[in-house]
Amino acid sequence: MRPVILWFRRDLRLGDNPALAAAIDTGRPILPVYILDEGGEGRRPGAASRWWLDKSLRALDVALRRRGGRLILRRGDSEAELRRLIDQTGADQVFMNRRFEPEAFIRDADIAHALKAEGIACHGFNGSLLARPGAVLTGAGKPYRVFTPFLKALLQAAPDRLATPAPETLATPEGLAGEDIDAWGLHPTAPDWSQGFDWTPGEAGAAAALSAFIEGGLADYAVGRDVPGRRGTSRLSPHLHWGEISPRSVVRAVRAAAAQGRVAPAQADKFVAEIGWREFSAHLLHQFPYMAERAFRPEFDAMPWRTDPEGLAAWKKGRTGYPLVDAGMRELWATGWMHNRVRMVAASFLVKHLLIDWREGEAWFWDTLVDADLASNVQNWQWVAGSGADAAPYFRIFNPVAQGEKFDPAGRYVRRWVPELRALPGRWLHAPWTAPAAVQAEAGVRLGRTYPRPIVDHAAARARALDALKAIAARS
Ligand code: FAD
Repeated sequence: MRPVILWFRRDLRLGDNPALAAAIDTGRPILPVYILDEGGEGRRPGAASRWWLDKSLRALDVALRRRGGRLILRRGDSEAELRRLIDQTGADQVFMNRRFEPEAFIRDADIAHALKAEGIACHGFNGSLLARPGAVLTGAGKPYRVFTPFLKALLQAAPDRLATPAPETLATPEGLAGEDIDAWGLHPTAPDWSQGFDWTPGEAGAAAALSAFIEGGLADYAVGRDVPGRRGTSRLSPHLHWGEISPRSVVRAVRAAAAQGRVAPAQADKFVAEIGWREFSAHLLHQFPYMAERAFRPEFDAMPWRTDPEGLAAWKKGRTGYPLVDAGMRELWATGWMHNRVRMVAASFLVKHLLIDWREGEAWFWDTLVDADLASNVQNWQWVAGSGADAAPYFRIFNPVAQGEKFDPAGRYVRRWVPELRALPGRWLHAPWTAPAAVQAEAGVRLGRTYPRPIVDHAAARARALDALKAIAARS
């Protein structure tokens, strides 16, 4: 019997995997393959994503081996590697879950087209979104540009099919050489900056994160999600990005918790709405591919961005002198993740206080986030910058001190990530320069020595940003 190829990409799981389920339905032997293609499928994953991929692929291989199979690893151009596998095995079908980022989507279509011409059928499925882009449109058949009506339409459009369980056995034909993942160098060395990464990549890790969230943060999600000093969110974002769990399984589990009376329905709804933002981002990028590079609202391309290498470096290092921003940037560097509230404040600081192009920040997040996702990253950066679809109004400029006082009132988050301010009393923690000299001295804080003075004055920076943004708004 000719085997079929199961081409894993951003669907590194065995449960609720539509491409896998369809491959099993053929009754043929299955060749599970992952191809590390660093050229043709859009942006190369950043360093933190590569760290994750390394562990996730190993976890997938273990899960396959438990079922009598294994993951075949290949590196190179995807089409060439698929052809090589076809030549070696006589496989005549390829099963895959679609990718919807514009470049990968076009590349996949080209591959399917080329293989079809030679009698090899490619079967594509949606395993990564509640609804595929194009399935959620306005009454006029246009993409939504505003989130709330999009969410309503999404929840109506998304089919609620039952998830297929992971198969119990999945034997892989013998005799096929694969690459050794150790040779791929996805894990950082010299230096290994990932010591503080406390994650369990893989399908089992994703399931554990979901259960922990349902038992923990979900009950108070609507409020708790904004408190960076607490574990109030699911931390599912990297698992969802790599497809170690399907958004459908996540939504179903959270709704089940509400249906069983374990959490209030409003908490589950709030969480599902956040999953909705993930969908909104993916649909937008698919429908407006230019937004990965340029402002979604073209008038914002005229922003008078500043060139400020020192400001950018201080931001990346968490040395802006604004404790909440610095805590977030250090959390990001140490763990590969940053709390959403702090992402908004830190991003706003870069684009509004420093007037540095959002693309600089987006690139840094791309490299350092374990959940770096082209659609979500670009959409959120543009939301913060004011240039995106349904973006924050341009005059909304987060005050990093007020944000800290509101969302980290006891200072737990800042004290954890900015230890040099640990002894400063809460009253001054979010604005250390306002503390009386004696208080600073007693807390061991010497501004400009142990911790930076603010690199910009909030009021002046706000006024500068407003001037620039008002001029842009006048063009629209
Ligand atoms: P939860 O609060 O538990 O939310 C559940 C899930 O909903 C998340 O896992 C995520 O998949 C989705 N979600 C939640 N908020 C958003 C949102 N605003 N936009 C899109 N999806 C959302 N998220 C990414 O997954 N990848 C990114 O590259 C990314 N870049 C961002 C950049 C900026 C400047 C900002 C402000 C936000 C960014 N986000 C990104 C969105 C959000 O911060 C993360 O999804 C969230 O913090 C992940 O933590 P969690 O899984 O605990 O979230």
